[in-house]
This record gives sequence, C-alpha cells and structure tokens, in this order.
Amino acid sequence: MSTASRPTPLLIRPDKETFLNEANPFEAMMSRFDYAAQRLSLDPGLYKVLRSPEKQIIVSVPILRDTGDVEVYTGFRVLYNTSRGPAKGGIRFDMNVTLDEVKALAAWMTWKCAVVNIPFGGSKGGVICDPPTLSNAELERITRRYTSAIIETLGPDSDVPAPDMNTNERMMAWIMDTYSMHKRHTVTSVVTGKPVEMGGSLGRREATGRGCMIVTREALKKLRMPIAGTRVAVQGFGNVGSIAAELMEALGLTVVAVSDKSGAIYNPKGLRIKEVQQHVKEHRFLSEYREAESIGNDELLTIDCDVLVPAALENVITSKNARDVKARIICEGANGPTTANADRILEENGIFVIPDILANAGGVTVSYFEWVQDRGGYFWDEETVNQRLERIMVQSFDEVAAMAGKHASSMRIGAYMQAIERVAAVHRLRGMYA
Ligand code: GLU
Repeated sequence: MSTASRPTPLLIRPDKETFLNEANPFEAMMSRFDYAAQRLSLDPGLYKVLRSPEKQIIVSVPILRDTGDVEVYTGFRVLYNTSRGPAKGGIRFDMNVTLDEVKALAAWMTWKCAVVNIPFGGSKGGVICDPPTLSNAELERITRRYTSAIIETLGPDSDVPAPDMNTNERMMAWIMDTYSMHKRHTVTSVVTGKPVEMGGSLGRREATGRGCMIVTREALKKLRMPIAGTRVAVQGFGNVGSIAAELMEALGLTVVAVSDKSGAIYNPKGLRIKEVQQHVKEHRFLSEYREAESIGNDELLTIDCDVLVPAALENVITSKNARDVKARIICEGANGPTTANADRILEENGIFVIPDILANAGGVTVSYFEWVQDRGGYFWDEETVNQRLERIMVQSFDEVAAMAGKHASSMRIGAYMQAIERVAAVHRLRGMYA
C-alpha cells in the first residue's frame, strides 16, 4: 500500500492521559490495537483498513408480544473484517447492547480467530432486549425476525453466528431453521453452538471454559506455580464461568469463590463445584447457597487468591479496583473484562493477564470444528474435539508468550501483535481491490 500520503496514526499508549472514556469498549479495543500496531510499525494504509469495520447493520425487529401488542426491538450485526475467511461471532441479547459495543466485540472476534489461527474473520450481533422479561415464544419471534432482517449477510461462507451473552443452543436452532426455510434446504453450517442432535459439535458447550482451564494451566507452568494449593476465584457462573470452575477443580486447583448476578460465595478451603452447579440448577441463583460465606460481587475481584477468572461482563477490572487485585494471574473468560487503564496498573503490579482474545478463544475454536464437521457431514467423537482444542490452545498460548517475550510486552499486547500480523499478512497478499 502507498505510503505517500502517510497520516500519522493515533498512537495511544493505554494510559489515563490519552484514554478518555474508560467504559467505551470500542475505545478500549482501539487503544490496545493502536499500541500493538505501533510496536509492529504497521503500514499506515493497513492501519487505516484494520481500524475500520467492514459492515455495520442496524435493523428494527418488530414482534407481537404474548399480550397481542406490537413491540419493536433494535438489532445490530457488525462484520469487522473478513480477509481471513467468513465472519464469525456470537449474538447477544441484552439491555446494554450498543453499536459501539458490538463493533468492539466484532473486532475482538477478528483478533481472536487470528490468535488461534482459524480461517475466520470477525463479527458480532446483538439485540437490545431484556430476556428475563420475555417468554420463550417471544424470544423465538425476536430470534427469527432478527435472523430474517440480517439474512443477506448470513451464510456458511459469509457470516456465521453463535451464542453469546443470554443466547443459547435453542436460539441457534431457530436461526438455523429460519435461514434454512429461506434457502429452501437445510443449512446446518450457517450457525454454530447448535444442539448436538442437529449438527452441533460434541464439546462445544464446554469449550470456552475448557480453553480457560488449559491456558491457566499453561500460565501456571510458565510462572512455575504449582497446581496443588493454587486458589481460584471465578466471576460469573454461566456457561463459561461454571465450566471453567468445574474443570479447574478437576485439574487440582482450589476454587475458593464464584459469583453470579445474585452475589458471590466464598470458602477458603475450596467449594465443591458440582454441588454448587446442582444448587444453581435447582434454585437458579447462587445467593441461597448455604455451604459457604456470602461476599459481595465486587469483593470477589479483589479477594485473596492466585488466579482470578472474570467470566461475566465487560469493564469489571478498572482503574478504580485494579490496584486491589491480589491474584497473580488473570484469565479473561469474558470479552473485555479489563479496561485499558487497568492494563497499565496490572502490568506495573506484575500480574500476568491471559487476554480475552486468547483465554476465551476455546469457544470459537470448537465453533470452527462444528462448521468443519457440518460442511464435511462427518462428526468427531468428544475426545477428538477436546484433543484438537487442547493442541490449538497450547500452541496459541506459546505463540503469544513468544511474541510478548520478543517485544518485551504484556501477553495482551503480544496477542494483539500476533493477530494483527496474521490479518495484515493476508491483506498484503490479497492486495487492494479497487
Ligand atoms: N460468543 C463467543 C465468543 O465471544 C463464541 C463465538 C463463536 O463461537 O463464534 O467468543
């Protein structure tokens, strides 16, 4: 690309002087991207391309409520970059969804797929709605109407959704059905995270949590920390947090605290995760669990432990509480749980952060396996899925650690550099279509 009219890139070191809005996820993503791009001396033309989402769609999603009244929801789908392959990324249903958030999440999907080197670009979708207040039938109508509104971009070769916050296998089945009805034939590979009975992959449900366990184990090895006696606190007890806690306990770690929306529970001797899962199955929330001490949700983040797994929301480790984090390792099960301002504080305090775009990439990795299986029409056993996931996660951890080592940077910046290098390499090879 031409370097003639080279604009000076906005080279932002994530710190408080330059980083204006700590809570804006798109800025949070961009500030790390800018810094990593600067460290790589990325060509300014490519820099401009990689800073811009390819496509942003905003749709109205009108449905009939069960009462017979009409309600109109707003939905988004952002395709951030598709140079390496079809766009890939989940759909979330949440009241806090914004276009900026979806853009950030779509960019993170792009970097995440590149970090684990699977042949996808990145996308994300969301609908502003409040799932606990909606019936199953209403959720089905929203899912189907949203799918039909973005149907031109969807497809196994163009954009492949998956579950994310407040969406699940059931909804992926509705997306697959809606798309297939429009196409007049069944297309399983248009969406991943489906029920196993209809083309889902074994091991997909556990994959994000399993990936978190694998990279945490690798980090402990790297830092020469033992398994026995190492204490873990997990924020979030949904699909990611509860499986990560279960598999970390099975690995031999001591899970001392877990939390959900209703509060957090703490037992310095270790919780029995299977029992906690059973409790949640029966009572929905953790708060009434009596075999452990109740603590505040915020307290969990700064509790005395060795490994902290934020596996719930964005922006939970900020400049306000980062100084109080006592863990030696943070494994980011959620997307964007740490703000860019907090990065600097954690780095100063010598905390080893396994960044989201590596730590939670197990989910999309097995989504890739699901897409491959659907397209091949040949399904693998769970052991094969888990072995292949293990290999990719370990290799990606090592590659990111090597990149961070080479540039004397944090694992986060190492991961961004790895991703940018891979995406940029494809852009250079493909050249500019004009
Ligand atoms: N929503 C998940 C994520 O943020 C999974 C995406 C996928 O499997 O496509 O990584």
